[in-house]
Amino acid sequence: MLTYLKRASYLPIDIGRLKRYFKGNILLDTPLARLTSFGVGGSADILLYPKDIEDIVTIVEFAKDEGIPLTILGRGTNLLIRDGGISGIVVSLRGGLDNYEFADETIITGAGLSLPFFSKLAMENGISGFEFAWGIPGSIGGAVVMNAGAFGSNISDHLEEVLVVDMDKKVKKYLPDQLKFSYRTSIFRKQREKIIVSAKFRIVSKAPLSKIKDKMREYERIRKNTQPVGAKTAGSIFKNPKGDYAGRLIEKAGLKGMRIGGAMVSMIHANFIENIGNARAKDIEELIIYIEEKVKSETGIKLTREVEILGYGD
Ligand SMILES: Cc1cc2nc3c(=O)[nH]c(=O)nc-3n(C[C@H](O)[C@H](O)[C@H](O)COP(=O)(O)OP(=O)(O)OC[C@H]3O[C@@H](n4cnc5c(N)ncnc54)[C@H](O)[C@@H]3O)c2cc1C
Repeated sequence: MLTYLKRASYLPIDIGRLKRYFKGNILLDTPLARLTSFGVGGSADILLYPKDIEDIVTIVEFAKDEGIPLTILGRGTNLLIRDGGISGIVVSLRGGLDNYEFADETIITGAGLSLPFFSKLAMENGISGFEFAWGIPGSIGGAVVMNAGAFGSNISDHLEEVLVVDMDKKVKKYLPDQLKFSYRTSIFRKQREKIIVSAKFRIVSKAPLSKIKDKMREYERIRKNTQPVGAKTAGSIFKNPKGDYAGRLIEKAGLKGMRIGGAMVSMIHANFIENIGNARAKDIEELIIYIEEKVKSETGIKLTREVEILGYGD
């Protein structure tokens, strides 16, 4: 049985000052379910869609002055937002900071750009090395936070620098060495006060368009055969333990098809949980905990979560 902390609300709030400087959309008391790939989650007190870096700086200034907590969403594809929602300000980068430019053998992208778009952009320009990103539905910012990867490649492989807005409202440059990238993690997973606004990637390998396209098609085919593509999921729930696969352990524990409410361990890939109807975040979280306990008791292995759980219960 899960018990949750009570959510503090920051509503009602005077957003007059924010409105004066902020160029993007401002929504109050707005459901977040449609902003996540699981399709679940309660509301945000204040949901902001920044248009550019200036807007991010304005948000940080407002949040700091008013003492309101900030949460950043990319495309919400590695997140479980609880049914009670998120307290304070939620910043969604969907539709914003999605600029890109080519300069001096690099591609510079806004943090809100979608990874599949980025992968396709590279392909169209004969740039190899980003084919793996084609089937990952996140944003550049979220991918850097998670060090997203597949088929032996990671987003950090050709990363040259990242621009971040800190709580002191300054735009700072970080080099990969400073970001402690390893399997599905970086310093950003712990240092939540840093907002990634752009990333620069080295162009290291050129190839004929058809060759890059074939690789992307092959990766797509593999995903379609091995993952519940099209279902409401958040990708892999757990990291693979060294030398093994979380999916194999979950299957071995007899959990394929296991259901709690509207949440089910995928029949196609046991490391995915599907929202098969009207799942609540609570169903999914309870299923995650059940899997952890069962795998531990059956195999002795403690699984580590890849998916992030945010917010409050209702
Ligand atoms: C069908 C499916 C397949 C997937 N396959 C893969 C895969 O093959 N490999 C893989 O690695 N992942 C995979 N994922 C998981 C997910 O897509 C990646 O982790 C992705 O990089 C997350 O990006 P996002 O924009 O959705 O981040 P979100 O889920 O929105 O956020 C993830 C974390 O990053 C933080 N964050 C997001 N943007 C910023 C920013 N600009 N600044 C600071 N913090 C930020 C959020 O606060 C949160 O803590 C898959 C997911 C799905 C649904």
